[in-house]
Amino acid sequence: MNTRLQSCSAGDNVLRERGQREVFCGLTGIVWLHRKIQDAFFLVVGSRTCAHLIQSAAGVMIFAEPRFATAIMEERDLAGLVDANDELDRIVAQLLARRPDIKLLFLVGSCPSEVIKLDLSRAALRLSRQFSPAVRVLNYSGSGIETTFTQGEDACLASLVPVLPEAGPKAPSSLLIVGALADVVEDQFRRLFAALGISLVSFLPPRRSTELPTVGPSTHYLLAQPFLHETAHALEQRGCKRIVAPFPLGSEGTTVWLRAAAIQFSVDGAHFNAVTTPLRERADRAIGRYRPQLTGKRIFLFPDSQIEIPLARFLARELGVDLVEIGTPYLHREHLAAELALLPPEARLSEGQDVERQLDRCRQAAPDLVVCGLGLANPLEAEGFATKWSIELIFTPIQGYEQAGDLAELFARPLVRRARLVA
Ligand code: SF4
Repeated sequence: MNTRLQSCSAGDNVLRERGQREVFCGLTGIVWLHRKIQDAFFLVVGSRTCAHLIQSAAGVMIFAEPRFATAIMEERDLAGLVDANDELDRIVAQLLARRPDIKLLFLVGSCPSEVIKLDLSRAALRLSRQFSPAVRVLNYSGSGIETTFTQGEDACLASLVPVLPEAGPKAPSSLLIVGALADVVEDQFRRLFAALGISLVSFLPPRRSTELPTVGPSTHYLLAQPFLHETAHALEQRGCKRIVAPFPLGSEGTTVWLRAAAIQFSVDGAHFNAVTTPLRERADRAIGRYRPQLTGKRIFLFPDSQIEIPLARFLARELGVDLVEIGTPYLHREHLAAELALLPPEARLSEGQDVERQLDRCRQAAPDLVVCGLGLANPLEAEGFATKWSIELIFTPIQGYEQAGDLAELFARPLVRRARLVA
């Protein structure tokens, strides 16, 4: 365990901690990814614990045909008494025979599959050969060792990048939006880019595996989520270029994010303003409704989802919130540079976690609202703190102009609830 202070590129002091952490593992990403890619199936190769995690994170979901499952490794698999590869092949064959609607199968690694060193990349190659062209089989790891829950999406999207079709040398310049967005948000952004005159726009992940975007040196990509380091690296290896921008949270964040794309695609400034100003004004009004509840309130963000820094920027700049501490599991300085530049200079950042020390700091600061994972929320509520589950901010559509008011409301709601309880 160690704790030390470091100065980040934006000039802020960053407290770096490497102690016990309270986070979900990368398997959690399946909960939103299986809804997004509609012909994909996620087969976790893991234990009963993994199966329970997915079921409880997914909540009560009633599907006639769910799009995720766990191939449970029993003790005899773990003890090497049976060939885990044979078992896996048998389960996959059974699944695909029963479910001809599956076009893309992800084998998702877990702690147990890593412990027994089951080579899922080799298994994916073998099974892809067997079931191609009807089904493509890919693999990634959702293991909880040294990861946090949004890294599951990063690993999943990174596994898709090598199979994206190549844009030829004469391909026109195109825009790729990277990061899972709710369909309603994706549709809004499609309409906005079309109104701006940017016509070649695609999204990763796509809604269907048959609609994989083409990529190459003519592709400029814009991150919609701040936790996609591996995916960004893989795209750059394919020649794609990142458009530097903050993230589309809140009215300001959405405007600056869109403007970065508009500049890249030479959209006229007056046209940009004509398209975005009415939307921005409406978003500002929607956010303004929550200022009375949030301005001057003190908020402490524990490290969990990796979207803490863009959220903190939104809360401070658009709602006048006082940021006590902004925790993030990892601080990717390059992808977050535009965000760090917008944070109040006095904002205290922490990277990583030493959960007991951080809880002590939180209790001492006595903030009005704590944003944290499920494991910390209940005990903190019992101690009298108002809390917001950070995982909810990943499941809920919060990006873009139309959602800016809803995003503000997500923070106002627990304060209103707590005020009622106290009254
Ligand atoms: Fe637990 Fe690891 Fe399975 Fe995640 S992958 S549920 S951390 S055993």
